[in-house]
Amino acid sequence: MNEAEYLILQNRLLSEEVKRRIDQMAAINIVASTVSQSLDLDRTLETALRAVLEVVNAESGGISLIDAETQDVVLRAQRGWLHDFVSMPMRIPFGKGMSGRVIREDNVVVNNNLDGSEEYAVPSFRDEHFRSIAMTPMHARGKIVGILSIMSNKPDSFSDEIVAVLRAVADTVGVALENARLYEARVEQENRLNAILQSSADGIITTDLKGRIELVNNTAETMLGVAEETLSGVPLREAPMPAKVRDSLLVALASRVQAQDKAFQVTLDDERVLLVQVAPVYTESQVSQQGDADGWVIVLQDVTHIRKAEIERARFMQAAAHDMRNPLGVALNSLSMLQSMIGGQDATADEIIGIATRSVHRLRDLIDDLLNLEHIESGFGFKRADADLREVLEEAAANIKPSMDSKGLHFSTDISDNIGSAKVDRRWLMRALMNYLDNAVKYNKTGRKVTLRAYTQDNNLHLEVIDNGIGIPAKAQSRLFDRFYRVDDKDTEGISGTGLGLAIVKSVAEAHGGKVYVRSRKGHGSTFGLLLPQG
Ligand code: ADP
Repeated sequence: MNEAEYLILQNRLLSEEVKRRIDQMAAINIVASTVSQSLDLDRTLETALRAVLEVVNAESGGISLIDAETQDVVLRAQRGWLHDFVSMPMRIPFGKGMSGRVIREDNVVVNNNLDGSEEYAVPSFRDEHFRSIAMTPMHARGKIVGILSIMSNKPDSFSDEIVAVLRAVADTVGVALENARLYEARVEQENRLNAILQSSADGIITTDLKGRIELVNNTAETMLGVAEETLSGVPLREAPMPAKVRDSLLVALASRVQAQDKAFQVTLDDERVLLVQVAPVYTESQVSQQGDADGWVIVLQDVTHIRKAEIERARFMQAAAHDMRNPLGVALNSLSMLQSMIGGQDATADEIIGIATRSVHRLRDLIDDLLNLEHIESGFGFKRADADLREVLEEAAANIKPSMDSKGLHFSTDISDNIGSAKVDRRWLMRALMNYLDNAVKYNKTGRKVTLRAYTQDNNLHLEVIDNGIGIPAKAQSRLFDRFYRVDDKDTEGISGTGLGLAIVKSVAEAHGGKVYVRSRKGHGSTFGLLLPQG
């Protein structure tokens, strides 16, 4: 061959190679554009197989996927076969047969001369009488996800060129299938979550950060008596739901303290009581960034039966306390009669009568406090109405003044001019203030000062009782508002009490949506505060 002929040959080979490449590119393009049209796995399998068979010009083919759990190779789509191996699944155990070889070698396996003597992992495959087969691994995300095969009933069907095209399109198909599979897995997970959400016994509503409703489950629909369609996509402020629930939710969502969960009870017009909990939702990235919440999740629980039981219990306690109080009254009367009959004659008898009288008084106080606590915590009869706060505070001051005077304390009030009025249960607020004021007398020393102070700050009302009495040790301060907690040191020695007074104040504050606080230094005095949100 001379140089010219050699060059011509080289040129021809080159142009053939170019043509082959162009054909391959075209094949990949055809397959890619076909398989990327759907995210439905079964549809993608079908269309991918059809497109592949067209570009390689083969009559039969199959696509198998690897079962992520068992690593079995499962035939998921077939074309041009005699028997249906998809609905009667062809499952080839990991490593078995020609599929096993494809995966092991991570390479194309071609046999252009099948003669029926081969060992097949699935024996009935022999009934298809294929004479040629080419199988290639499909890759996605760096691993083999399945096998793409083409077959023919004639021997010597698959040239190197066809195999090259098969190899070239395999990964495109693999990626499309993997995407469809991931999408399906995600949809399935979403469906499962949705099913859990819908069948939850709690009502669940989610909103975006601005309060636009995104999701409402069946239970919430029933509880609020509103259809999902009328709520979803609607801003909470316009949502057609019971006004009491909507208004409380708006207040909860508007609050500046976002990170905090909020819970409150709403009594509907039909007497049902709903416990509503509002919590911010964070996506993972936001948790790590400690940024703003992504939205809100609102959980509704029907607690009517619990409320009814609480009210029943409060009624029972009241009746029981009443029954206990009567004999105590009789006992006190008898003791005082005894005192007047034999008083002053015998010092020991006087002392015994004194001890008995004090004990009965203690018992009566305890019953009263327990009853109060039970009462306020059950919410039974708790009613808020507009009250002139200055007037309430002045009445409390007038009530405590005689005790202050008899203990020789300097008592004053410091009520800010703009104190105005507030929606409170007047009777319970008075009880709470009196508990603080009584303590300021009890835990104090003659000649010291006590101030009843009231002011507003950041939209909150602060009612404080400030004394420069005995003060409270730091380690005791966090437990002061617990039931039955009393400080036990030499300054409080001999001062009697039930340990329930501050627990009652705390419950009163909470019933108003507020809270209590204390600032104190042992030996320097204390400030007991009651914070009530305004508006
Ligand atoms: P009680 O007065 O019946 O013991 P409280 O719940 O009212 O119950 O108060 C709990 C404890 O808090 C008291 O036992 C007392 O030790 C402490 N305490 C309350 N008020 C004051 C105060 N103003 N100064 C010092 N200690 C106080």
